[in-house]
Formats: sequence, C-alpha cells, structure tokens
Amino acid sequence: MDFHQSLLSSLNDQSQLRTLIDLIPEFIVLKDGDGRWLICNKLVMDMYELKLEDYLYHNDLEIAAYRPQHTALFEYNYKTDELAWEKGSALLVEKSFVAPDGIHRTWEVMKTPIFDEYGKRHRLVIVSRDVTERKKAEEALHASQEQYRLIAENMSDVITMMTPERKLQYVSPSLEMMLGYSPETFYKQERFSLLHPDDLERFVAAFERTVTDRAIGTKEECRYHHAEGHYLWFEMNMTYVARSGSHTDYVLIVSRNIMERKNHEQQLRSLAYMDPLTGVPNRRYLMNQMNQDMQTTIDNNTLLGVLYLDIDRFKEVNDTLGHEAGDELLVQMVKRISGELGPMDTIARIGGDEFVVILPLITTRGCIAEIAERICAHLQQPWDLQSQSVVTGSSIGVAVYPHDATEAETLLRYADRALYTAKRCGRSQVRFYNEDK
Ligand code: GH3
Ligand code: MG
Repeated sequence: MDFHQSLLSSLNDQSQLRTLIDLIPEFIVLKDGDGRWLICNKLVMDMYELKLEDYLYHNDLEIAAYRPQHTALFEYNYKTDELAWEKGSALLVEKSFVAPDGIHRTWEVMKTPIFDEYGKRHRLVIVSRDVTERKKAEEALHASQEQYRLIAENMSDVITMMTPERKLQYVSPSLEMMLGYSPETFYKQERFSLLHPDDLERFVAAFERTVTDRAIGTKEECRYHHAEGHYLWFEMNMTYVARSGSHTDYVLIVSRNIMERKNHEQQLRSLAYMDPLTGVPNRRYLMNQMNQDMQTTIDNNTLLGVLYLDIDRFKEVNDTLGHEAGDELLVQMVKRISGELGPMDTIARIGGDEFVVILPLITTRGCIAEIAERICAHLQQPWDLQSQSVVTGSSIGVAVYPHDATEAETLLRYADRALYTAKRCGRSQVRFYNEDK
C-alpha cells in the first residue's frame, strides 16, 4: 500500500475524519437532504452545547426545541438552508447574532448543496467563519473614511487625486462650489482643459517634480477656469503618496482659492506705481515707461518729448478755497491733459502740483511744441471747483530726446530747468530746454 492509499484509507476512518474537522477553526455542519444533521465539528458542539445524540439525525427546528435560547438562530439556519437548496449552488450569507457566549458576532456562512444522480437533495455542507474582528476593522475603516469624505466634501479647498501618469482618480465635491463644475463634468473634461493655458507648463513641471522626488508639499500657483467664464487663482499643494502592495501611488493635490490674496497683491502693486489722488502713474512708473519709450523712439528714428508741468500759484487756490478744492483741481487737471494725449502718451503725477507728460514717436520738435502749447492753453481755461470758477495757468518745460539728453533722469532734469525758465519769464507758457536748437 503506497502512501496515498494509506492516507485515503485513514481519512475514510471516521475517527480520523472527526479529528481533522475538529482541528479546522471554522464551524462545520453536514446535513442530509432533509436538513438533518449528520456531522458537526467541536466548535459547533461547544457553541450550542450539543452532544452527538442531541443533534444526530435531527433538523434545526428539532434541535431548537432542546435549545430554546437559540431558537432564532436555528430558525434562521433553516430558512437560509432552503435558499441554498433553491439556488442549487453555493450560497454565501452573512449573519449577525448575539452568539451563545453573549457576544454580538458576525459569521460568513457558505452553504453548498449537493444533489444525487437523480437530482434529489443529498447533502448540505455548511462552513461558517467568525468574521466579527474583520467586520469591526472594516467598520472602523469605513467610519474613518466617512469622516475624511465629510471633510473633503465640506471644505472649501478642492482635493484632487491623480495617478503618477496624471490620470484623475478623485476630485472633491467642493469643486462645484469653487468653480461651478460638478465633479462628474470635471471627470469628462479633457485633461487639464480647465487650467489657464499659460499655467499648464508650470503645473506639469511641478507635478513631474513631485512624482520624481516623491515630494511633499510642492507649491504652485495656477489659474482655473470658472464655469461662468473667468479664471480664478489657486495655490496648489502637491504631495506624493506612496502606497504598499497592489495599491497604486498617487499625487494628492490640495487647491486653495487665493483670489483675495492676488487682488490684494495687485492693489499693492498698483499703489506702488499709482498716484492715489488722481489715479495716474507716479514717478516710479514714469521712469520705467520713459526708458521703454526711449527705446521705441530710437528704434523708429523719431523724437520723444518730455513735458514738465507745474500749476502756477497753486498755493493760492489752497489758501483761498481750501485743500479739498485744490485736490479737485488736480483731478480735473489730469482729465484735461489726458484729453489732449494719444494712446502712446503717458501722464504721471510726480509731485504736489507737478506732472510729467511723455510724448513718444514724434517726428518733429514743432509737433512737440504744438501739443505743449495746446495743453498750456487748455489749462488756462477756468476750473469749476465746488461751484466756484477759478482761473490758474500752468507752466511747461520741455526736453527732447535724443537731442537734449540720452538718460531719462537727465531729460527730466532739463525739462524741469526749462520749467523754471517758464516760471521766471512770467508763467503760463511753454519753454524748451536749450531754446536755440
Ligand atoms: P508756483 O507758481 O511757483 O508753482 O507756485 P505754487 O503756489 O504752485 O507753489 P509750488 O508749486 O512751489 O507748490 C505747490 C503747492 O501745491 C504746495 C502745496 O500747498 C500744494 N500741494 C501739494 N500737494 C498737494 C495736494 O495733494 N493737494 C493740494 N490741494 N495741494 C497740494
Ligand atoms: Mg506750482
């Protein structure tokens, strides 16, 4: 007798089989086609406190009569046995009961019906496993996932999960609140189609950096398209999340709306370059602009005129009508001068009652003189201030690039010098630096 045969014969031996099934850590019951118990292992006997004679050849309802405290369990078994027979193949059920030991337990039960050669019910094999601990762990995981989901759904940041290959896995519902798109439509969008085209390259670079370095907290600022048509600034914080086993790694992106900060920055930027009273550029802006315009002028082989204006006897306006009326005049003055200028020209307020006008791309000195005279004449017209009419003039000094100087600062100084001459010669007039040229 070889080894296999001896094993088979020993397995056929009832006591060997008994030992074997008693060692299996699952609840095992074998029933006949009429639901009568034939074999069960020690775990089952212990749980129901059954002896062989209590169960052998009895069905569940009969056993329940001996163990009235477990009636509900036996009735449940009886019902689900029937379901397995009707199904005709293995049936998996999950049952949750207060076990005979008083603890609330969950079982996963597999009921496999076996039919004889005539198709009649022959045997039902029932194998149950106590999955209470696994269930508890699953429930705990589910509860914590639920908590994270609640946070993700109710926060104003937008959470996105993407595979390292840049495939979108998840986007939080907050997307709808921030950008007006539902997550469903977002999934359907062509990849990155909501990103501002000018920001795409920076976004992809930051993403790739995050993947390559497996980085935490890579920051990038990008604009996203809002469903209503405009773009909004977001700060994105990208983190590489490495996962074990068969789970794929992903990049977690938390996008925060930073429009308020961007607007504030924009305001600060304009404050740094803008005169707050009149809303026109200040000296800092003027110097940048003048340098750019000088280059354009040279490239086009033309001239650039720098007009330095100062209101005549402005102090008197303040003294007689008050500072507020003086402010009003300054604002009106900007409007008047601007009305005389073309789209390439610039006006800036560089001091109390001092303004500078840049006239680029002018062909002759005569043209510059013409514009300066026109402005000068216009500024002598009466001003309507706080329902009072006031007359003041302004004096204008002019320097011409490149004839008078090639540096912006020098040009401005020369124009100021010409202004001084205009004031000295009786005010309300235009004077060129280096008048003879
Ligand atoms: P001049 O003809 O020589 O230019 O005499 P002026 O009275 O205009 O005197 P000046 O240009 O030297 O001084 C400018 C005055 O402008 C001084 C100040 O009282 C006034 N001023 C400066 N900034 C402001 C301002 O923001 N608002 C008002 N209302 N007045 C200002
Ligand atoms: Mg003045």
